[in-house]
Amino acid sequence: MCGVAGIFGHPEAANLVYLMLYALQHRGQESAGIVSANSSTGKMKEHKAMGLVRDVFDERIIGDLRGSNLAIGHVRYSTTGESSSKNMQPILAENFKGPIAVAHNGNIVNATELRHKLEGDGSIFQTSSDSEVILHLIARSKEAKLIDRVQEAIGQIRGAFSLLILTNNHLIAVRDPFGFRDLVLGKLDGTFIIASETCALDLIGAQYIREIEPGEILVINKDGERLIKPFDKPDHFSFCVFELIYFMRPDSFAFGRSVDGFRKMLGRELAKEDIKEADFVCPVPDSSNQAALGYAHESGIAFDLGIIRNHYVGRTFIEPSEKIRHFGVKIKLNPVRQLLNDKKIVVVDDSIVRATTSQKIVEILKNAGAQEVHFRSSCPRIINCCYYGIDIPVKDDLIASRCSDAEICKQIDAATLKYQTLEGLRRAVGEDEDDYCYACLGGSEYPVPIPEELQKIGKIL
Ligand code: SF4
Repeated sequence: MCGVAGIFGHPEAANLVYLMLYALQHRGQESAGIVSANSSTGKMKEHKAMGLVRDVFDERIIGDLRGSNLAIGHVRYSTTGESSSKNMQPILAENFKGPIAVAHNGNIVNATELRHKLEGDGSIFQTSSDSEVILHLIARSKEAKLIDRVQEAIGQIRGAFSLLILTNNHLIAVRDPFGFRDLVLGKLDGTFIIASETCALDLIGAQYIREIEPGEILVINKDGERLIKPFDKPDHFSFCVFELIYFMRPDSFAFGRSVDGFRKMLGRELAKEDIKEADFVCPVPDSSNQAALGYAHESGIAFDLGIIRNHYVGRTFIEPSEKIRHFGVKIKLNPVRQLLNDKKIVVVDDSIVRATTSQKIVEILKNAGAQEVHFRSSCPRIINCCYYGIDIPVKDDLIASRCSDAEICKQIDAATLKYQTLEGLRRAVGEDEDDYCYACLGGSEYPVPIPEELQKIGKIL
């Protein structure tokens, strides 16, 4: 999972991208980076480092990047390639055609095959990330024009890619034909802004224009913008439903809908034909707040905040190490004892992955005096891994792929357990339900075929 942001033609380009990365921090906490360019001097500068945006940049660094009118930025959480400084983005490279930088959100499923071919032809890779393949493909193209080189490169990659490409006089946005990950276009002071989520546009006061459509290449330079649609249109799109359920910020507007409204609908669906008597509905803050509110509205049960999150600790699911994950739950979530004592509560979480977090939450609530804990997941059972850029563990680590609901309920020590149904999820999505990917939930095929070697190991390399 990653977040990207870019801007063309603003005197404060680097500064604005830095601010947008703040709004996208939830999409990746391992590293952050900015590449900026000055279209008059042709110079490009970069700064990237491991850590949060607030730790990676300071006034001096942003000052060094100033004087540029173009910039792209990236926050990273690794889904391919290890979590190390060599895989930080944007990736900036120099070749005889000039400097070029790439920031990528998604996963390229044929990256290994392409990489072997490129290495066989003499390319030397600096990173182990799939994103560098794109840069090499662009660099090796024999086409004279940048846009033709980009098109030739993009035509060879398969999978999920919402990309920003920067040179010293072009900003290019690309979204794969299935549209897995969102990419939105905005305007500020007459200049173009592109970001992974609309919350980044809001932060800098940019006006939302539209989504970069699936299969679009938007080329922006001093002469204006140009739209290219080089791909065959698939039968239907494959927007990642898990983005809406879990990853995006609720204040974002994505795939043509409000994330906040969608999550409330999920909660309403979950509450249908469920228990009607409990003292209160409690979210696992913050990503379950909207689903729990929807549940409370539908069921008529009161809503209360029985768990408080410490906001200065990263999100459990996107911490890479198992050791940190276990420790994180304890320091992150604290029960409100005076609310919980002797109470029967419905806890709504956004999803259950390994169930280690769910188990810990039930334990925390019971230790604080809760009499009964009824556990609800606003996401259906996650039974398959994702090859398109979300860090869902290998199948064997997904508890719902190997245990029944009764077994999971027993393991997490809840009074009852209920998952969202696939039908309920589809109802919440509404009329464009067939334009979404549900592969990790067993609700659709993998939209882009997965190479056999990846299927065997059950994850992206
Ligand atoms: S497999 Fe799941 S996480 Fe991956 S793109 Fe599809 S819906 Fe999203």
